[in-house]
Amino acid sequence: MSETLLEVRDVHVSYGKAEVLHGVSLSMKPGSIVTVIGANGAGKTTMLNAIMGLVPYTGTVEYDGKPVPRSIEARVAAGLCLVPERRELFSSMTVEDNIRLGGFLRAASEREAMEHDIYQRFPRLAERRKQLAGTLSGGERQMLALARALMSKPRLLLLDEPSLGLAPKIVADILAIVGELRNTGVSILLVEQNARAALEIADEGYLVEVGEIRKSGKAADLANDPALMEGYLGRM
Ligand code: ATP
Repeated sequence: MSETLLEVRDVHVSYGKAEVLHGVSLSMKPGSIVTVIGANGAGKTTMLNAIMGLVPYTGTVEYDGKPVPRSIEARVAAGLCLVPERRELFSSMTVEDNIRLGGFLRAASEREAMEHDIYQRFPRLAERRKQLAGTLSGGERQMLALARALMSKPRLLLLDEPSLGLAPKIVADILAIVGELRNTGVSILLVEQNARAALEIADEGYLVEVGEIRKSGKAADLANDPALMEGYLGRM
C-alpha cells in the first residue's frame, strides 16, 4: 500500500470555455479524514468529480499510486466510492433494497454479514428497512446513502456535503457517524460548507475559493485561524 492514498496535482477543469478549477493540489494519507471547505460554487463538487474521473481534467490524480480506474466496477473494486450531494437513492425502493444494491459486487453470504453490521451501526435504518427510501427524513436519507456506500467496502469514501439541508442536531449526528467510520479503516474526503463541524472531525483541511486552494493545514490549526474564522467559520 502506498504512503499516500490520494494525490491530486495541479488539476484544472473547465466547463466549456470557463475554467473553474485553476490547478488544485491535495494529498491524503491512508486512514485520515480530509475536508475540503469553501463557499457555494467554489469548485468543491468539481474537485470530487475530477478525482472520480467524472469530468475531464488536466493534471494528475493518483489513488494508491496509480491512476483512478475508468470503469465504475473497477473503481468500486478498488475501494473508491462517491456519495454525491443529491444522495441519489432509489426513492421507490425500500431501505433494505437500496442497501443491498450497494453490495452488488459481493457474494450473497458476505453481503448478508455486511448488512447485519450496517443495521447495527444504523439502528434507525433497521427500524425502517421495509419502508420506501422516498418516505425517509433528510437525515435518514443521508444515513441510507452512507450505509449503501459502506456496502461496497470502500477504502476511500468521497462525501459531497453530507450535511446539506439538514437541521443542526442532525448535522452533528451525521458528522459523528462520519468521524466513527475512520475507526473502521475507511479514509474520507469530506466536502462541506459547514466548515466548523467538518474541521472538528477532520485531520487535515483545505479551503477552496474560486477554484483555487487558498489555505491548507491541520484541521485544528485551520479551525483556530482568525482570518478563516471571520470569513467562513463565523457565519456557518
Ligand atoms: P456547491 O456547494 O454549490 O456544490 P461547489 O463548491 O461544489 O458548490 P461546483 O459545483 O464545483 O462548486 O461549481 C464550481 C463552478 O462551476 C460554479 O461556478 C458552477 O456554477 C460551475 N459549474 C458546475 N457545474 C457546471 C456545469 N456542468 N456546467 C457549467 N458550469 C458548471
